[in-house]
Amino acid sequence: MTSSTVQSIRTLDKSGNDITSVGFQRFGFDCEVSLDVLRSLYLRPHYVTTANEDKTERVDTKESNDPAPSTNGGYAAYQSKSIYHPQSHSISYTTLSRFPPVKLLPQAGRKRVLVTGGAGFVGSHLVDRLMLLGHDVTVLDNFFTGSKTSVSHWVGHPNFELVRHDVVEPFMIECDQIYHLACPASPVHYQFNAVKTIKTSFQGTLNMLGLAKRTKARFLLTSTSEVYGDPEVHPQHEDYWGHVNPIGPRACYDEGKRVAETLTYGFHNQDGVDVRVARIFNTYGPRMNPFDGRVVSNFIVQALRGEDLTVYGDGTQTRSFQYIHDLVDGLIALMNSDETRPVNLGNGDEFTILEFAHLVRDIVEDVKRTDDGIASPRRVNIIHEGLPKDDPQKRRPDTSRAKASLEWQPRWTVRMGLEEMVRYYKAKMAEGSL
Ligand code: NAD
Ligand code: UDP
Repeated sequence: MTSSTVQSIRTLDKSGNDITSVGFQRFGFDCEVSLDVLRSLYLRPHYVTTANEDKTERVDTKESNDPAPSTNGGYAAYQSKSIYHPQSHSISYTTLSRFPPVKLLPQAGRKRVLVTGGAGFVGSHLVDRLMLLGHDVTVLDNFFTGSKTSVSHWVGHPNFELVRHDVVEPFMIECDQIYHLACPASPVHYQFNAVKTIKTSFQGTLNMLGLAKRTKARFLLTSTSEVYGDPEVHPQHEDYWGHVNPIGPRACYDEGKRVAETLTYGFHNQDGVDVRVARIFNTYGPRMNPFDGRVVSNFIVQALRGEDLTVYGDGTQTRSFQYIHDLVDGLIALMNSDETRPVNLGNGDEFTILEFAHLVRDIVEDVKRTDDGIASPRRVNIIHEGLPKDDPQKRRPDTSRAKASLEWQPRWTVRMGLEEMVRYYKAKMAEGSL
């Protein structure tokens, strides 16, 4: 890719304005960070605009005399490197001995934040944001679906701790805020061991609520749109009680999250624990496990490999897809707001799965053409396979509560997010890990 191509990559929001930063300044918790800084933690340097500036070279070559790094550029110096050796089918990692600059907060503004499931897809992006903002972050994860590499760029930082621990066992730590994410999220993973999934949701949430009670920490549960099941109400608003099959293949997750919500409000009403509940709708982005069977990762990987895209059923079922940075904005806004009722976080742009397959195929072709100058030799086909049991027929969030209480609305178009995710997977393929 040439630098002139890099300069032509723009990220526009739903109103057509350039996205240069994510986050906001509200609720006394300033969470705005530059998009380039965030990207430098997951995208290759040539996609990060400021990484191409001359400054980068200066930081790389004059390491010992390096002054305090600017917050405007030179981020390539902070990226971990992995080099694939095809002959020996091995990979060498250069771990970071330096970290991107994080904010220096006064003691009073610095939170001790526990993120369970912080090595997973959503968790790792939340951790990036909290770290850049200057907080003290502890990640608790058993690495069932998450991976150490998703947060390895922070290992060794004085504000960061990574603990291997299963949340079904009690855990003690002093903290101010708990983001409780630990739970497999893709149908393939949560159905792999249904009993463990519901145990994680129940026992894990019970343990973390107990911790919140003891330490007086604020507790945020990442619940899900799956609490609405196969909904009879469309779009789904928070007052809808849902339509869940309690003994079907999705029950371990759906009922697990429903009971986790019940526990959360039990501790709130009985013990005065300060709680927040986010009901997250389908979210996608870099670091999503490419093999977890979810539709976004499946379609992108299939299209990049030149394989047929597998639409389950006739593809008339719908989903609404939210980009990861919007979700992290919403989670941080909710945690720091006064809203104790459940809040939907999702993007209202709804697609049938068949439409979505066409969109992903087009975007993969566009990105290959723009970045590599390669026209796909042939269009991949879209084929149909059996529809899984109890697959919800439609899903779209009503986010009016998030808008009113948090002043939050998704900014990323599905196309912008997909382009970035395609670039991330393309890089993974180039390094040989996909
Ligand atoms: P993920 O599978 O990538 O991450 C889950 C993390 O939790 C992993 O790091 C995993 O190793 C860890 N984990 C699982 N069981 C654990 C246990 N018993 N003890 C400790 N750690 C454990 O999933 P994700 O997409 O990042 O989802 C994160 C949270 O958000 C989940 O609670 C999920 O239910 C919720 N959510 C996600 C979405 C989405 O579209 N991504 C939608 C709705 C809700
Ligand atoms: N899906 C599909 N092809 C795939 C993977 C999923 O058609 O390769 C469908 C799936 O049947 C569902 C939708 O895409 O209707 C979203 O599936 P996903 O597993 O991503 O999330 P969830 O069903 O939990 O919303």
